[in-house]
Amino acid sequence: MSDKNVKSSISDSNEPPLTFMQSSLSNCPICKIKADYSISDSKKSKVMCNNCGAEWQMFFTLSKDQLVSLRLEKPDREKRAKDLKGCLKILGFWQFCNVSNYSSSTEKTIRKSLENYGAINFKKIREKAHNDLSDQGDFSLFSALSLVGGAYPRLYNPNFIRPSLALVKEFSDIRVLPDLQRIFKSTVVDEHRLSIIELIVEIVRQNEFIPEVSTFLKTVAQTDKHAPIRSAAVASLIIQNGQSVPEDLVSFIVEVISKEKDIDARATNLLNLQKISSDERVIDCIIASLPNREIPNYKFDLPTSWLDAAKEVIYLFTAPSLGEIAANLLIEIGNRKGIESLLEAIVNSQLDSFFLQRKRIRYMFESYPYSKEYLLNIYETSKDEKRKLNADRLLKIVGEL
Ligand SMILES: [Zn+2]
Repeated sequence: MSDKNVKSSISDSNEPPLTFMQSSLSNCPICKIKADYSISDSKKSKVMCNNCGAEWQMFFTLSKDQLVSLRLEKPDREKRAKDLKGCLKILGFWQFCNVSNYSSSTEKTIRKSLENYGAINFKKIREKAHNDLSDQGDFSLFSALSLVGGAYPRLYNPNFIRPSLALVKEFSDIRVLPDLQRIFKSTVVDEHRLSIIELIVEIVRQNEFIPEVSTFLKTVAQTDKHAPIRSAAVASLIIQNGQSVPEDLVSFIVEVISKEKDIDARATNLLNLQKISSDERVIDCIIASLPNREIPNYKFDLPTSWLDAAKEVIYLFTAPSLGEIAANLLIEIGNRKGIESLLEAIVNSQLDSFFLQRKRIRYMFESYPYSKEYLLNIYETSKDEKRKLNADRLLKIVGEL
C-alpha cells in the first residue's frame, strides 16, 4: 500500500527523491553539514549539496520506493572527494565511509583484490587479496557491495557478484543489511536474488535478532515469485524466531507454510521447521503434511548449513514423499501428539507405512513406548477392518524387537 503511494507521488513532484536523500543521508557524506540538498536536473534524478557543491546521480529500486545508490557526478568545490568522481557506490558507502580518506588507489586495490578473489587455485593471491581487503575495512566492504548492486542490472559485472558476496559474508556486518535489501529489490535475475537473500539469511544467522529485517523477510516469504527465495526467507524467519525474539513469528511462519503451493519449497520449509519443533503449532503444521503423497524434486541445495541433521532424515529415503518427510521429522522430534497422529495416518492408510523403513518404525517404538499401547488399543477396539489390519501389521514389527 505505502509502496504504491511513494511510487505514484515520485512522478508528481520533486519532493520524494529529495526526501529519500535527506532521510538516507542526514549529513552530507563529504562536507558533513546537516542535509541541505536540492534537485539539480529536470529529470529529477540528480541531487546536489547546497553547501559544498557536490552533485550525485540517484538510482532507485525497481519499484522506485527506495534510493539504492549514488554516483558522484561532480566533486565538492574543495575537491575532497575528487577521487570518487564517476564512482557509483551503494548507499551504505556514502553513509559509513569517510569519503575524504578515499583515493583512487583504494579503488584499484579493491577491484584487483576482488578479481583475484575467485582464483581459488592461487592460494597466495587469494590470501593477499583478502589481506588487502581487510586492511581497507569499510571501504572494501561497501565497495564490494557496490559492485553487486550497481543499481541497474546492465551495470552488473557478473564476475564480481560471487567474490563480492563472499567478501560481504566474511565481514557479516549488520550495517550491510539495509543495502542488501535494497539491492535485492533492484535486481531482476532470480539467481542473483537468491544469492543475495541467502547472504541475508547467513548474516541474520550470525547476528542477534534484527527486527527491521523481519518486515522485509515476511513480504518476501509471502509474495516473491521465485519459490526457492520464498523458502529461504521462511528459513531466515525461523532462525530469527530462535533468537529470543520479542515478536512471535510462529503464527506467521506456519500460515505461510500451509499456503505454499510449490512442492520443493514445502519440503524445504518442513525440514527447516525442525529448528522450532518445540512449538505445538509447528507440530500441527508437520502433521498436516502427513497425507501428502507428492514427491519433491529435492536436490539438497538447502540454504543454510544448520540443516545437516534434517538432511540426514531425508537421506534415509530414496525420493520420499512430503508425507514421508513429515513422518520422519515427527519420529525425530518425538512429540506425543505428533507420534499419535503419525500412527493414525498409518492405520487410516493416509500414509503408506510400507515406505517407512522398518528401522525407523522400530526406533519409534523403542523411543516412545506409549506408541505400542496406542496401537494395541486400536487393534482391540476398532471396528474398522482396515484399521485393525494396519495396526496388526505395525504390532508385528514391534514383536520383532
Ligand atoms: Zn556537502
